[in-house]
Amino acid sequence: MRQGSGIKPMLTVWVWAIALTTFQSGAVSTLPDKVMPVIADRQDMQTPDRLRLSGWVGTRIEANEANRLVKLDPARLLEGYRKRPGRQSWDGEHVGKWLHAATLAWVNTGDPALRQKLDYVAAELIKCQGDDGYLGTYLEKDRWTEWDVWAHKYNLIGLITYMRYTGNLEPLPACRRMADLLCQTFGDEPGKRDIIKAGHHKGMAPTSVLEPMVLLYRLTGEPRYLDFCKYILRAWEQPNGPKIVSTLLTLKRVDKVGNAKAYEMLSCLNGALEFYRTTGEPKILEACLNAWEDIVRNRLYITGAASYGEFFHDDFDVPNVANVGETCVTVTWLQFNAQLLRLTGEARFAEQLEHVVLNQLLGAQRCDGSAWGYYVQMEGKKPYSSTLDGHCCLSSGPRGIALIPTFTVSTDADGVVVNLYDAGTATLTLRDGTAVTLTTGTRFPSEGQIRMDVDPAEPKTFAVKARIPAWSASAEVRVNGKPVTAKTGSDGYAAVTREWKKGDRMELRFKLEPRVVVGDHRNQGKVAVLYGPLVLAADGALLGATNRSLNAIAVADASLAALDVKPEPAPKELRFWPEALVFRINAIARRATGSLKTGAPLQVRLVPFADAGQTGTSYKVWLPVGSGPPSENLLLDGQESRSRAGNVGGSIIDEDPESFVVTFDDKRRAEDWFAVILDEPVTISRVVFAHGQTFHDGGWFDTGAGKPRVQVKATQDGAWETVGELKEYPATTATNAAGLKGGERFTCELASPIKAWGIRIIGKPACGDNPQQNFASCAKLQAFERQR
Ligand SMILES: [Zn+2]
Repeated sequence: MRQGSGIKPMLTVWVWAIALTTFQSGAVSTLPDKVMPVIADRQDMQTPDRLRLSGWVGTRIEANEANRLVKLDPARLLEGYRKRPGRQSWDGEHVGKWLHAATLAWVNTGDPALRQKLDYVAAELIKCQGDDGYLGTYLEKDRWTEWDVWAHKYNLIGLITYMRYTGNLEPLPACRRMADLLCQTFGDEPGKRDIIKAGHHKGMAPTSVLEPMVLLYRLTGEPRYLDFCKYILRAWEQPNGPKIVSTLLTLKRVDKVGNAKAYEMLSCLNGALEFYRTTGEPKILEACLNAWEDIVRNRLYITGAASYGEFFHDDFDVPNVANVGETCVTVTWLQFNAQLLRLTGEARFAEQLEHVVLNQLLGAQRCDGSAWGYYVQMEGKKPYSSTLDGHCCLSSGPRGIALIPTFTVSTDADGVVVNLYDAGTATLTLRDGTAVTLTTGTRFPSEGQIRMDVDPAEPKTFAVKARIPAWSASAEVRVNGKPVTAKTGSDGYAAVTREWKKGDRMELRFKLEPRVVVGDHRNQGKVAVLYGPLVLAADGALLGATNRSLNAIAVADASLAALDVKPEPAPKELRFWPEALVFRINAIARRATGSLKTGAPLQVRLVPFADAGQTGTSYKVWLPVGSGPPSENLLLDGQESRSRAGNVGGSIIDEDPESFVVTFDDKRRAEDWFAVILDEPVTISRVVFAHGQTFHDGGWFDTGAGKPRVQVKATQDGAWETVGELKEYPATTATNAAGLKGGERFTCELASPIKAWGIRIIGKPACGDNPQQNFASCAKLQAFERQR
């Protein structure tokens, strides 16, 4: 370990004039680069202190800072560095991601408590650097094998962001030494290591260090860092490389790039765009635009999620469950769009930003900001966690939220550009130096009216460009109360160019209305309901006593007239901001439930996807059309539970063959169970258990000490009693799943019919290749009155 001394003499070579000692809102100046980008930005991303949002999005930004970023324990962030090798192989990424998000959040709020924590964490992190520049969490013998370059990437991103906004250059020598070590270690000259072999996913994990290496090149002007970036681009195209740029130029499909792992690939593409910005290599932009078009056309979920099982898959292969919507992918997709917006100035990228922020990103964040979901699927439960122990996504989500103030409102060569709509104040400086304050008043997205007071320091002619959302069938623009014709330019924005002076008001009126999207491919026979930019979902929190189960809800047909969507104020328990709405629709009972017959009319209230599942209930975006086939499964209206919450948001009683749950929590348990509890007893003769999925590190029952047992509760408050076992379950061990396949079913015929208030399957979980933990999985639990 290297102690933090010997830094100061090196600082004298830096001649930048920086005066950033005290914080004032709107006064943070960023560290200038030594190398200017070749490609000039079309839109100027803003330092986060220029924007204070107070609407719906604003409440989430505030919550991210107050309840997440400032509360994370520095000892936890630094743990793997202080005591190598850390609790697991990519634990090193969290501290850099936190430094990035927390710096942006501090610039936005000026919170001195957060600044103090930032200074401490940055200083403590660099104290952990090795004499040779190494700043990862691995033991010497395991260096550069898995997630080691990856952790250096995040340390560079975090520390560069910290330096850029605080002006404190103390981490710079540490960053240079990290970069120098990478340059010395990896390359295509004899004697150097192949970076493609230094990590997972066809080298996409380690080579995503491209992004901060470009940033460090621009910051320092050091040519060898640019040479290293060029080496990464060559390595991508090596025989063993992921062929990122060449595949995107020829096949134009992200699922054909490398091994199609979404988070790592998008991380590489974000670095590629930074490289393009710096060098102007046109093929890179072309490749990235091809990737964007492919994702938007063929692989994007209705909420803005972009992967399942953490990978890109075949065209339109977008199941509703199956580890859908990794939050790391959501955030890197957001960054990708923000970069393309900055580089091209085209509104279509801002449209995607609105889409992903208002639905998938806010849907992955718990409303109070304290917790994040790993996989945030189209249905199921949101797996919120307030620790870092569910891994990568829990430190990625806050980065996405912290970036919102950088692109909500921006400036360009013509004037002001409004990308996202939320109440608040933007303190802008136009390119000619004119100061403009833009104050937005709106209850958006609960109303379609946006009032923007445009206040330049002196009367001045410039454009105010507004993004007219694709979901709005009509849009009205007024200036000082009078309708104006706003010309939509080639960049896709409606511009009002005039002499603006203090007291001027521009008003936008969008048509907020419900829409129905009819499902295709894997959602054939289902519909999704939207309202303006919001994707809506049915939520267990809003079901009445007569229709207790989400699975019992359908819509009669796909027409808006039949649905009759009516917004109304959210009930107290779901009013996560003062203007929150829910949406009443006409539905039908998909099957007989409680006292309702199949096809009986129901009133159901939908909630925005971002607010769905926030109270721990299940939710569902795609609703079936028409009543379903009769089912004899007696557990469909029960309450499901399991021994450990796990990190997958599926269900064992939803009749969806793809949805499953696990008990994974990175710990060991002697036994795990999956249960369904009923409000009224049923008489059962047969129980069916379907296995969930087999993972490298577990997911099945270890039958070494016996087959999984079937247990029932004979009385409402009684104890669990064993009534049988899954005899056909294969002879597995803790490490061998004996060929178990996802969804494989096992039946237990009971000796005689039994009255049951609850049913569960219990057994010993398996650990696969990681004996530090174990877990089981379950796709379905069913019970039937009759034997087969
Ligand atoms: Zn993740």
